[in-house]
Amino acid sequence: MVQPQMVSVLPLFSALEDLTQLHKFYVLLPHQLRLMRQVGKLTIEDVLNYETGEQVSAYIFFKKPLDEITEHRSELQKAIQGYREPLYVCYYCKQLIRIRGGNFNSGKSKKDSFHFAHLKDSAACHIKTNHVYTREEVDRIKYNGAKESALHIHLKEQIAAYLNKNRLFKKGVSSVEIEKVVKSKLIEKEWRKPDINASFQDKRVAIELQLSTTWLSVITGRQHFYQEEGSYIPWVFHKFSLDDDVRKLTYNDVIFTNHHNAYVFDEECSRKSDLENDLVLKCYYKKYYRQGLEIMDTWEMTYVTLSDLTFDTVSYKVYFHDAKKEKREVELAVARERNRRALLEREQENEAEKRRAAQARILEQRKAEEKRRIAAHTELKENLSKLTQQLHGLQQEKDSAERKAQRLQERVENRMQILTNLIAFADKTYDLITGKSRSNPFHRNFEYGHYEMVNTLRAEFLETGKELEASFARAFVEKGYWLKKQADLPTLGQITIAGVSYQILPEVDQYFQLIRPHYARVKYIPKSAVGTLFEGAELRSVLSETNLLEVFTKSSLFLLVEHGQDVLTFSDKVEACQRSISRIDEMQVELKIQLQDRIKQTFEAEIADSKLEKSNIEISSEALDGEISVLQAEVVSLKSVLDDLRGSF
Ligand SMILES: [Zn+2]
Repeated sequence: MVQPQMVSVLPLFSALEDLTQLHKFYVLLPHQLRLMRQVGKLTIEDVLNYETGEQVSAYIFFKKPLDEITEHRSELQKAIQGYREPLYVCYYCKQLIRIRGGNFNSGKSKKDSFHFAHLKDSAACHIKTNHVYTREEVDRIKYNGAKESALHIHLKEQIAAYLNKNRLFKKGVSSVEIEKVVKSKLIEKEWRKPDINASFQDKRVAIELQLSTTWLSVITGRQHFYQEEGSYIPWVFHKFSLDDDVRKLTYNDVIFTNHHNAYVFDEECSRKSDLENDLVLKCYYKKYYRQGLEIMDTWEMTYVTLSDLTFDTVSYKVYFHDAKKEKREVELAVARERNRRALLEREQENEAEKRRAAQARILEQRKAEEKRRIAAHTELKENLSKLTQQLHGLQQEKDSAERKAQRLQERVENRMQILTNLIAFADKTYDLITGKSRSNPFHRNFEYGHYEMVNTLRAEFLETGKELEASFARAFVEKGYWLKKQADLPTLGQITIAGVSYQILPEVDQYFQLIRPHYARVKYIPKSAVGTLFEGAELRSVLSETNLLEVFTKSSLFLLVEHGQDVLTFSDKVEACQRSISRIDEMQVELKIQLQDRIKQTFEAEIADSKLEKSNIEISSEALDGEISVLQAEVVSLKSVLDDLRGSF
């Protein structure tokens, strides 16, 4: 909205009709314009479009393309010459306005020199007479001026006509008054009255038509005035921009003081009014709604008649849709939603906190459980290890018992074997003790302490044994001696005398000694008598040893011993020796039997001991078996428990 400021520099230029000196300022940008205004300004800044009621600002208008400006200039010229209705007029004197300038020779931009100007022979105007108006006066002049435009008058009459139709069709309107416009070139001292005054259902309704948005600040100021008068005053626009950016600067003041409702009367409304026989307006209103936590708004439009509107008896506002109330409700809804969300969030946080706490508890329980399980596992493992060691120990014990039993069994068997061959074993023992043999029959049984047994036996049997052995040896040597002697004896001749066989004793000393004790058995015969008839008679006996000696040396005699009488050998000596040997032999046998008995006694005792020991071992081994199987079962069950535990980690 261009709201020109009347500043004190204006009088300096007001006398100048031709403002070519200031051309250079016309094309400046808005911020430069502001700067410029501090220096100087155009004589005619705004003119009234008499056709539409709109204000035309020189600063904006002369920025239009050259052809548009030229076209307008031509139209203005036609109006001046009376070929058409007035177009642009001076707000103050209402005289026609023309466009001047267009000096293309200065080397500057073509539009530089354009400006609005009065006609040369125009009547007096305040701009020319250096009159200074107050802001309120300028506003009033411009506002009233706009109401004189053709469009304004046309629309005003149309609206009044439709209100009259309403009245005729008895739709609530009881009277319609239209404000007459008296064209005047004088400065109007008062604000014009509302365009149309009507009575609607005993309410005073003043309709104000607004073609330009220039005067909205004026409108808001005047609204108050009407309220005090007890009139409802719906402001009616000719067009309405839904573009918020444009509208913000223009309609908002009015709209927002009217429950966000804006009324528009345009061609479409006119057509609808014809059909309805009533005044039909477009009502634009803000619709508020909630989107999440945001308050959103959108414009909506509907066609309304006076009957559709709400007349607020307190504020004197007229509205179709109470957007203010709706906004408050939406704000409340947003607040409720915000609360609800905050509450929900708090609840969710509480829930989450509870869940976290529960999870922490579960975690802790799990940890404790884990700890317990590990402890149990460790303890079980230790127990298992102990049990396994125990089991191992028992098994070793059992193995050792079995080995011992085995050894005892072997010993028993060995002893039995010895007892079976007791005679041979005793012989060997005898030979060992007497030193006849170095072969020790106890050799394989050292571990049983048989040195002692050997020593005992030796102590008991050695002397006797040795003696027997020595006697045996002596007897044997003697026997040998005599056998040798016998073998050394010369061979005996044989002779038969008188049918009896005799052995002839040779004249050898050996035989003399041999025969001497047996002289009585010796006979003799003269060699000459042998083979004679007398030989039997000649045979004589030796009478004494002396006789034997006598006859032994006589070579004429044969000394004879009857054949079969063993006196010519050492056989008796040999026999004696042999008897001695036999006796010793018997004594040895006797000794060996004693030895056998001793060995038998010892070994039988040993066997009995071993058997008893073995049986005891077997009994304890069985007990061990029982213990082991119990332990094994325990180990198996512990292992399975351990496996279960391990599986649960
Ligand atoms: Zn004027």
